[in-house]
Amino acid sequence: MKRVGAHVSTAGGVENAPLQATSIGAKAFALFTKNQRQWKAPKLAPTSIDAFRKNCDDGGFRPEHILPHDSYLINLGSPDSEKLQRAREAFIEEMQRAEELGLLLLNFHPGSHLKEIEEERCLELIAESINMALDATKSVTAVIENTAGQGTNLGNRFEQLASLIDQVDDKSRVAVCLDTCHLFASGYDLQSTAAIESTFSEFDRIVGLHYLKGMHINDAMQPLGSRIDRHAGIGKGTIGMDAFVYIMNHPACEEIPLILETPDSAEWQREISLLYSLEW
Ligand SMILES: [Zn+2]
Ligand SMILES: [Zn+2]
Repeated sequence: MKRVGAHVSTAGGVENAPLQATSIGAKAFALFTKNQRQWKAPKLAPTSIDAFRKNCDDGGFRPEHILPHDSYLINLGSPDSEKLQRAREAFIEEMQRAEELGLLLLNFHPGSHLKEIEEERCLELIAESINMALDATKSVTAVIENTAGQGTNLGNRFEQLASLIDQVDDKSRVAVCLDTCHLFASGYDLQSTAAIESTFSEFDRIVGLHYLKGMHINDAMQPLGSRIDRHAGIGKGTIGMDAFVYIMNHPACEEIPLILETPDSAEWQREISLLYSLEW
């Protein structure tokens, strides 16, 4: 089965995320387990954790269908050693929160070199950060998201994702989440069936499709290769529908979270049914 969902709100507590997801017809969801714009967060209350797990069970969401996203403040490749330290601590905390909730995945953006260190060095720091987080936890997989390559963000080329995975010691707990808007913005064409097919085979050749544990399903506001991260509603952007038909029928996209991060949450229910209507 395809597991389409959206990045839902946790207003009122994490336990509300699965309820929100159910209300829009989602079969997967993403969430922030804490305020994504702050470093500190209160510990998750045991009652909140229990309610979250119960609501996930009731809604039919298994841990592999739930894709928490880490805070935007975290730069696991920071050139500044103090900031790197803080980012690593915060990342470990996020991995632990995911574990407390009984989840198996944590989605994050690799990091930025800020023009202060070489790309290679930044990738080394990120991989080291991932290794530290995997050492500090037991069951959560670090899910690297490809980026649009905006500014000095790394992770926009498949070669960089492959290099990170290569430097991670426990390959069983590292994976990739491909964001369609980011792919397109970073220059991977998705505008026709042939184009997305060749992007997928390039990903398979350089990274490996077996590492794909989630996708973000977004159309793009900007043209191919813009390196600008602006999401558009499904069918309302520059990618067009062929890519989404391809994804909704690809065996590698079975049973992994396919998460909308489109700008208008009022449209999610419609976009979810639209995506399901693309299945053959
Ligand atoms: Zn993201
Ligand atoms: Zn994304």
